[in-house]
Parts: sequence; structure tokens; C-alpha cells
Amino acid sequence: MESIIQYLGKEFENQFFMKREDLIPYSFGGNKARKCKLFFEEIDKGNYDCVVTYGSSHSNHCRVVANMAAARKMNCYIISPETDDVETYNKKFMRLFEANIIIVSVDKVSEEIDVLMNELRKNGKNPFFIPGGGHGNIGTHAYVGCYEEIKEYERKTGIVFDYIFFASGTGTTQAGLICGKLNSNDDRKIVGISIARKNPRGREIVIESVKEYIKDANSEEVKNSTIFLDEYVCEGYSSVTTDIIDMIKYIMIKYGIATDTTYTGKALWGMSQYLKKESVRDKNILFIHTGGTPLFFDDLNNGIS
Ligand SMILES: *Cc1c(COP(=O)(O)O)cnc(C)c1O
Repeated sequence: MESIIQYLGKEFENQFFMKREDLIPYSFGGNKARKCKLFFEEIDKGNYDCVVTYGSSHSNHCRVVANMAAARKMNCYIISPETDDVETYNKKFMRLFEANIIIVSVDKVSEEIDVLMNELRKNGKNPFFIPGGGHGNIGTHAYVGCYEEIKEYERKTGIVFDYIFFASGTGTTQAGLICGKLNSNDDRKIVGISIARKNPRGREIVIESVKEYIKDANSEEVKNSTIFLDEYVCEGYSSVTTDIIDMIKYIMIKYGIATDTTYTGKALWGMSQYLKKESVRDKNILFIHTGGTPLFFDDLNNGIS
């Protein structure tokens, strides 16, 4: 699953490029499409007959998993926390794909996953569990692949990116990009803008994921390569400010690119603040648009215009 890199021009006082993961041609694309493709390659190799995963009503991951399962006529079970149970387009899609959505309280999520997996097995099923957000080595591997695409673009054009920015959630996307960087000994900044988690835990999870993927990674190198910024999460997951909304409108109007308040719009705003704060100028900046277009429509319904 490849995506294009687009040059958008001089923006935020830098040369601004965007990798359009949102245009990956499956179910509105995004980083979940890139990760889930690899998870389903595992599923297709085994004799699994149903899929279990976890995510909120905002989850792009759950939409893509439900779509890929439905395409195979496999049952799909989604454990979803009640705290974040609102009506969204992603949720409508989950229903369209006839996923079984099981709403539980947040503290019961991992327990309910175990209960469900055991129950399915007892009934003679062979379920495949996909961690929330496509976390784990398979998801990390997907973003090592994305990093390779970026390198390929650099080889072809002679353009070298000084910074790579993106919205960081479970940290798997970031871990993959960092593994790619470490594998090729590159010198550039990979900056994850946290959309929910705070430090130190948020950053530690990225570091753990990198070490899980590159078993003999140099600990100091991994730490030095992991920039996870938590100062732009605002009030937490899916919280919004007028500055974020202004950024989303600006990018939509000027470039015709949809972003959203939970992930990509928040990350773009965080990136713009960071560039200003650090006085970064005249560098080559790559923003990875990690997808989530259905969330843009939720934002429209919620009156961002
Ligand atoms: C899930 C998601 C992210 C975060 O990706 P992680 O690999 O979990 O860090 C970022 N952007 C969008 C649009 C997402 O759906």
C-alpha cells in the first residue's frame, strides 16, 4: 500500500511536503489501512474464522478492520469503551460492515477481550486478535515500509527531509518510522505529536515498541531518536480548541485537504506551534497525513464551519 508525497509549497516558513496516507486506496486509507493490510495477510495465512479488536467510536482502526473482515465474510467483534461512545461516521461504517460492537466500561476492556476470545474458542471458533490501533510488531513493520517509501522519494528527487511530523496515538506509526531511521542511520528529526497520551509514559511506549522490533537496538540511540511531544494534546483525546479548528479550515481552503480535530488537524496545529517555538526555518518538512477522513465529516456535523 503506497502513498504519494505532495509538495505544497512554502508554508509555516519552511518547504512543506505531505505524505498522503489518507489517499491509500482502501476504506478512506490512513495508517490503519497500511497496518491492517499486514494483519490480514497473517489472517489469510492461518485458518482463522473471526476477528476480535478494540477501539472507540472514533476509531479508524475499527472501521478498517470491520471492512476487511466483512470483505472476507468473517465475523468481526469490536470491544468499545462506553466513555467515548458517541455517534460517528466510523461507527456507522462499523454497523454497515455488520461488526458486533460490544460496549464495556473502560476498566473492563482487557478482561472482556479475554472473556470473548475464550468464549469463541469454546464454541469451536478460531479468532484472531488485532491489538487496538494495530499496535505491535506487525503495525510497526507497516511503518518501516512507509519509511522506505520516503527514502525512495528522496533518492529519486534529491530532496532530503529534515523533519517528519505526524499524529502519534498508540505510537506504532512513530515506532516504525524510528526503526526505519535507525536501520538506515539517518540524521533527521522524527517528531510525534501526541494526540492523547502524556509523558513520560507516552514516549516510553514508543521506545518499548522500537526495542520490541529491533531486539538488539542501542538503548541510547533509541532514546535520542524518540521525540514524543505531549504539549499539544489540549484536554486529551478528541478535545478541540478554536486554533485547531482554524488550522483545519485553513488547510482545507488553501490545499483542499481534509484533516480532523482528533488526529491530523491537531497534529498540524501542534507542528506549526513547534516550528515557531523552535524557530525552524527553510527546512524540508514532511507531514504524514495519517488519514481519518470520516472524522472530518463528524467535525462538519459538529459545526466546525
Ligand atoms: C490511529 C491514528 C493515528 C495514530 O497512530 P498510532 O500508530 O496509533 O500512533 C494517527 N492518525 C490517525 C488518523 C489515526 O487513525
